[in-house]
Amino acid sequence: MDEFSLIERYFTRAGRHRPDVELGIGDDAALCHVPEGMSLVAATDTLVEGVHFPGSTPAGAVAHKALAVNLSDLAAMGADPAWFTLALSLPQADETWLQGFADGLFSLADRFACELVGGDTVRGPRVITVQALGLVPAGMALLRGGAAPGDRIYVSGTLGDAALGLALEQGRVQDEGDAGAYLRGRLDRPEPRVELGRGLRGIATAAIDISDGLVADLGHVLKASRVGARVSLPRIPLSSAYSSLREQAGWEPALSGGDDYELCFAVPPDKLGQLEQEAAAWSCEVCCIGEVVTGSGLFIEVTDGKEYQPQHSGHDHFSGGS
Ligand code: ADP
Ligand code: MG
Repeated sequence: MDEFSLIERYFTRAGRHRPDVELGIGDDAALCHVPEGMSLVAATDTLVEGVHFPGSTPAGAVAHKALAVNLSDLAAMGADPAWFTLALSLPQADETWLQGFADGLFSLADRFACELVGGDTVRGPRVITVQALGLVPAGMALLRGGAAPGDRIYVSGTLGDAALGLALEQGRVQDEGDAGAYLRGRLDRPEPRVELGRGLRGIATAAIDISDGLVADLGHVLKASRVGARVSLPRIPLSSAYSSLREQAGWEPALSGGDDYELCFAVPPDKLGQLEQEAAAWSCEVCCIGEVVTGSGLFIEVTDGKEYQPQHSGHDHFSGGS
């Protein structure tokens, strides 16, 4: 199969177009209309086989994750997804793999009415780059640098599931019950918190998505906002699957494990009532885990002022010797 029939067969979809796409796949570039008063929000992330996902990952899960991590970045900015591009490097045109990939990709894209408007297809090691483009009312984007002392720190969903799923997969933790399937699902098919990000416009003073672990990502918010924080360890939300393995796994996956793609955000005291009201309608839970303080650094309290020392600060491709 040549490049053009591959694109035509798997990535061009007749009759599914957003009205704001003036020109989609097929020309040298796409044309998309940005309405007056809106800012264009652009995010891009690359997944490399063997680095970001094991070769055994089903194609549909690879596609889901490649798009989901980008939609998660849009969510963390408070943006609505609109369009995306896909750069695919593949060792061969494996039709079963491509069909699974396209199915996983469009089932997520369609849920958010996000249209594939272009891309690139080359032969090489399996590497997937998605660029997601979204829209946010001008001046309303959620940045990392706006948190102030007194703001409450919240996280969505539960933390550490993806890292624990990976630990199970790699045999570093033993599954004692039936937690494995749930945790593996959280690793392979993260849910981008798009509805939450949109809802936090005008409420949160700062936001980030947790891709490298709570300690590292909250750390980015604190640094950008020039503040510190106190977080209460027992208040960190865990899934029942994680809780069932907590004795064995400890707190590290929840604190320093990556790939959860939950949102971490700061809310000032005068917006807590509004948050509570809005949160009732959201499909994911949000949970207060601590407070922004003056100074710098993150203090994680176990109980009664005792500090927990995380063993790792998070995932960084370029840290360490290599
Ligand atoms: P060019 O040589 O101008 O870069 P290509 O031959 O790479 O064009 O691509 C032809 C058209 O197909 C372009 O509109 C491009 O955006 C689109 N395209 C290529 N690969 C993909 C892909 N993996 N997914 C979606 N669109 C793609
Ligand atoms: Mg090209």
